Amino acid sequence: MREVYKNIFVGDISDCREGVGEWLVIHACKYPCHRNAVGYGKKISPAHPNYLVLKKGQNLYLNIIDPDEPLFMNPLFVETLRFCNAYNKPDMKLYGSSDFLVGNR
Ligand SMILES: [Zn+2]
Repeated sequence: MREVYKNIFVGDISDCREGVGEWLVIHACKYPCHRNAVGYGKKISPAHPNYLVLKKGQNLYLNIIDPDEPLFMNPLFVETLRFCNAYNKPDMKLYGSSDFLVGNR
């Protein structure tokens, strides 16, 4: 995990944690975080209400992958900004984990 700005941290799946107390966590990885939080097997129907995003307490789970051709979808960014704004307090720490961020490497 690496602090990239005051109280804003990024890392990979090995640093993933639950968002509790002072921690807000954006789980920017489909596998395993989004899948486990939403509760599906290999695939999720695009019609599922949490197909792209699930918010549970201080955790935001994103269905985001890292394909050769970027497929980012606007709701991922909109919900991420809403999530961050909702918990915009001086003592909060934001952690973003991803399967493609480099973390401490
Ligand atoms: Zn996670």
